[in-house]
Amino acid sequence: MNHSKINALSLIVGIAFLQSVVAQEGWDTEPSLVNITDNVFRTVHRPAAANSVVIATDEGLVVVDGTCRGRGDPAWLKEELARRFDVPVKYVILSHDHEDHICDLQVFDDTAVTISHARTREHILRENRNTSIPDIVFHQDQMEFFLGGKQFILYYFGHTHSDNLIQIHIPDEGVLIAPDLSRSGKSLVLPDFRDADVNNMIDTLEKLSKLNDVDIVIPGHRGTTTQDRFMDYQKYVIALRDRVLEQMVNGATVEEILETVTMEDFSDYGNIDLWLRSNIISMWDNMYRYREPNVNSDAAGDYQSSYPIGYPIGGYQSGNQ
Ligand SMILES: [Zn+2]
Repeated sequence: MNHSKINALSLIVGIAFLQSVVAQEGWDTEPSLVNITDNVFRTVHRPAAANSVVIATDEGLVVVDGTCRGRGDPAWLKEELARRFDVPVKYVILSHDHEDHICDLQVFDDTAVTISHARTREHILRENRNTSIPDIVFHQDQMEFFLGGKQFILYYFGHTHSDNLIQIHIPDEGVLIAPDLSRSGKSLVLPDFRDADVNNMIDTLEKLSKLNDVDIVIPGHRGTTTQDRFMDYQKYVIALRDRVLEQMVNGATVEEILETVTMEDFSDYGNIDLWLRSNIISMWDNMYRYREPNVNSDAAGDYQSSYPIGYPIGGYQSGNQ
């Protein structure tokens, strides 16, 4: 066999392999809208793509979030809703500003009013997110509206996973939509704590686990879950925070912490191997901004060496301020 034939063969084998991976992971899955309750639906398509949730009432539909990652995107959803229902989408709710969760939702702007936390709108405008720009925003810890006799409660517990994340509660349906604080199945770990407030996130996870009138929790990705998973995630975040903090107090550099904090006791949390490094570095960064080391301790002498490459250390070298 000559070289060009071998190359052609390996190309065919390679394409077949890629096709089998795509088929296994379901990236090409035909999108569908599945019932969670009689009146609440979730888009099901590519695994791990952000969830889009639809709540149906006699007077109109409410859409919470949407993703461009997969075939069940808002353009598809709009056609599907027009096919199934004879009432329009009246409200679009954005859970937070992360584009993966709100992509392309401007397709509903012709009939819907878009609602979010006030800071979500600020992030959307600054980052030029591909989504609907909110028409109505709220600043406080809660807002409510009613449609078709159903109550919709939007909670804001402060800065958690991001500084603008909200949860959407439909008590009549026993449903709480809680993207990126609730997790489903075995994928309990999130990629990082980049724009998070870890300590308030820990407090909020407990509050969400105790909300009344919640039978079903819809997470940001994958299928439904229950309120006890908030506490499973809290257990991991507390353990990671405390282990990273202990090492920092002992003067360890971030490189040393990456070696010693292995979180092996959480190996059944599913996706920990994928995200442990970014979890530790972003937790270290969060705790760096949380604590002030003693200026004369050994730990304080390690300020500079404890920074990852590229961290803007210039403003932090003058000791206690
Ligand atoms: Zn997010």
